[in-house]
Amino acid sequence: MKAQTHKMTVSMDEHTSHLEQFKAFFKQLDEDGTTIEKLPRHRIEEYQLKAINATLTHIWNGNAYYRAQLEEAGFTVPEIESLEQLSKVPLLNKNVIRGDKQKILCLDPKEIGQVHLTSGTSGKPIYTSYSLADQYVYDLLPKYLELFKETDADVAAIALPYEFALPGLGFQRLYQFAFGTAVLSLGKGGYMAPVDKSLELMKEFQATVLTTTPSYAALLAEESEKFGIKIGEDIRLKKILLTGEGCSNTFRERLEKWWGCEVSFFYGSTECGVVAVECSEHKGYHVMEGHVKVEIIDPITLEKLPYGKTGEIIVTTLLREAMPMVRYRSGDIGFLQKSKCNCGITMDVLHLRGRMENMVRIGDEDYSPFMLEHFLMEIPDVGMWYHFKLKQGSLKIEAEPFRTELTDEQLAAKIRQHMADRIGIECEVEIRHDIPRTFGKATRIFN
Ligand SMILES: [Zn+2]
Repeated sequence: MKAQTHKMTVSMDEHTSHLEQFKAFFKQLDEDGTTIEKLPRHRIEEYQLKAINATLTHIWNGNAYYRAQLEEAGFTVPEIESLEQLSKVPLLNKNVIRGDKQKILCLDPKEIGQVHLTSGTSGKPIYTSYSLADQYVYDLLPKYLELFKETDADVAAIALPYEFALPGLGFQRLYQFAFGTAVLSLGKGGYMAPVDKSLELMKEFQATVLTTTPSYAALLAEESEKFGIKIGEDIRLKKILLTGEGCSNTFRERLEKWWGCEVSFFYGSTECGVVAVECSEHKGYHVMEGHVKVEIIDPITLEKLPYGKTGEIIVTTLLREAMPMVRYRSGDIGFLQKSKCNCGITMDVLHLRGRMENMVRIGDEDYSPFMLEHFLMEIPDVGMWYHFKLKQGSLKIEAEPFRTELTDEQLAAKIRQHMADRIGIECEVEIRHDIPRTFGKATRIFN
């Protein structure tokens, strides 16, 4: 079968934008039979510098806040001469745009096609506005045929929230418009979408792809047993794409075993859209360098960090007209590597370590929650629902047994021993049989 090419293109009547110039670049790649994924670095970086400068001009002309920030930083023209100079552009903090729908809007409000909100676990949400062209034209310009193999022969089940946030509708557009894939809009916990109905629909229409969160992928697998639906027989997936919550590689591998298919991670946000996607090598996530430029900074000094150093992930969107995010502080921690990946993709590799506020301090050490999860998931008798509770530098683990012969006491002792071997401290362990399942984001860390 022929690999997917974009199924349809959309044009807007009498639309003009600073982004029109990039259509030719991506069209040329098409004609050359390639994508941005495998371009030599200098060509990717040439494109990124052009796209950043186009964005800087656009925000300079279209938004008073952005312009004032740039002027204050000493810019007299909205232009940088090299990608290194991007670090001279001011950072954008969440608290500046939280609750303020106009602050960085660069178009007339009547040009807005869609508003998305962040889940806003603390305080007011962040409103992210998109123009129709953002969603249906520019967001679909870069193709990633190595990372996405879906075609119109696939059926994609999307078990992500469709209300407010970007994920459900974002994947819906990607699958329908880019790949021509039939979509089952399962949603996630809406009152029209109970778990049994969702599984039934996946079975009936023979879904081949599932896009959901790590915890919901576990929940669906767990519940399928209750409803007599056999994974691998009644539902035979080719691929699961995880997003929304982060997870450890061990958690991901458990899902691969459970579902009997490849499971890859998709890192993005409602503010920035797609940021990075895991390739079939599963050694980090390739930055979607057609869509974003990613940098890493020290979250205290705000200095840019080199490849290999862990810090805060900073995202600049390259193909947005309504609300470009320029040097946006994501609040996520990770590090970048130059790609030496066997998959042949030349786009940088991002290693995600989790949200800054979820870093776990035990004794004198900071641990990524994914690292602790990885250690816990190394024990096959432990289920996929757990809590880490932090109190004054000590850790309490609440875990569930999973298909094990061990008594609760034996399992608790096993976890205590394993974690002591891994992190060098004794932690308290409680075996529970009632850790609540959730349709929302799974909360696993309690500080
Ligand atoms: Zn790769």
